[in-house]
Amino acid sequence: MKILVVGGAGYIGSHMLRRLQKTNYKVEVLDNLSTGYEENTLGFQFHKCDLANKDQLNSILQNNYDLVMHFASYINVGESYLYPQKYYENNVNNTMNLLNCMVDQKILNFIFSSSAAVYGDPGPSPISEEENINPVNPYGQTKAMVENILKDYDRAYGLKSTCLRYFNACGAHLDGTIGESHNPETHLIPLVLQAASGRKNSITVFGDDYTTKDGTCIRDYIHVMDLAEAHLLALDSLRSKQISNIYNIGNNIGFSVKEIIEIAEDVTQRKIKINIESRRKGDPAQLVANNKKIKEELNWTAQYSDLKTIISSAWQWEKKLLQSN
Ligand code: UDP
Repeated sequence: MKILVVGGAGYIGSHMLRRLQKTNYKVEVLDNLSTGYEENTLGFQFHKCDLANKDQLNSILQNNYDLVMHFASYINVGESYLYPQKYYENNVNNTMNLLNCMVDQKILNFIFSSSAAVYGDPGPSPISEEENINPVNPYGQTKAMVENILKDYDRAYGLKSTCLRYFNACGAHLDGTIGESHNPETHLIPLVLQAASGRKNSITVFGDDYTTKDGTCIRDYIHVMDLAEAHLLALDSLRSKQISNIYNIGNNIGFSVKEIIEIAEDVTQRKIKINIESRRKGDPAQLVANNKKIKEELNWTAQYSDLKTIISSAWQWEKKLLQSN
């Protein structure tokens, strides 16, 4: 089987490639390197291509792939409010280009990186896949739109897909070679660790007046290696069953922003300065996954998603980044 990993040079895509290295699948990578790094592609055949370039995309997709995994999207909620056009163009239009080329080439298996952001500000956690889809920011809208497009493409063109709704992806590979390097960084754990290492003075906490146990937002943090494993299981299931499906990938446990900072202080043995600010627009108070479906149907279990492992691995990576700066 031959797989094309779109967005394989980025944070989650590169962990996926590392996992695919241990399989017998033939793998190729497509990325425009707008936020990714070519060294993350691990020597797999690499196609530098922007999904907006339909001609180039069309010619690459003639390489007899059986399945496409799609990790290439913009992910910053705040930015999606400021520049919705950028988000709809890349996350929706460019994904349409990819899907249309796939249908033309009769590549009819697709794994899509969706997000818990499709749930918007849901009712009580944990949230199951049956919860209403009601995104509250443009980023979440783009993911929900692609999920809907995929339903129609299945019905009309027989394109079978698995949408994986990520909760909070985090951590770094345990071998220390790859990790999270967004520029600018907006995610909590890397920013907390930058405050621990001294690259930043403090961590800003966006709101401590939520109706949660300590007033700060609660999220479900999932190690990127567990996320990659879930993709592999989803891929095998999609290939054998040929049924479109949707799964949450999360840990069923929520941690508050303050708890993350406390654990980071413990792991790093450094004091982290906190700066409380007002709420960030579009942040739901609590997002925790009900992960029963993926556990039961795909036999997935998280191996690395205890917070100490997550934060220790991210800390090793932060120290590496600090040395290379
Ligand atoms: N957060 C924070 N300070 C930061 C970045 C994030 O307080 O500098 C909070 C954010 O409001 C949210 C949680 O940390 O409640 C996780 O945010 P992140 O951006 O990492 O992921 P998201 O949940 O938005 O996907």
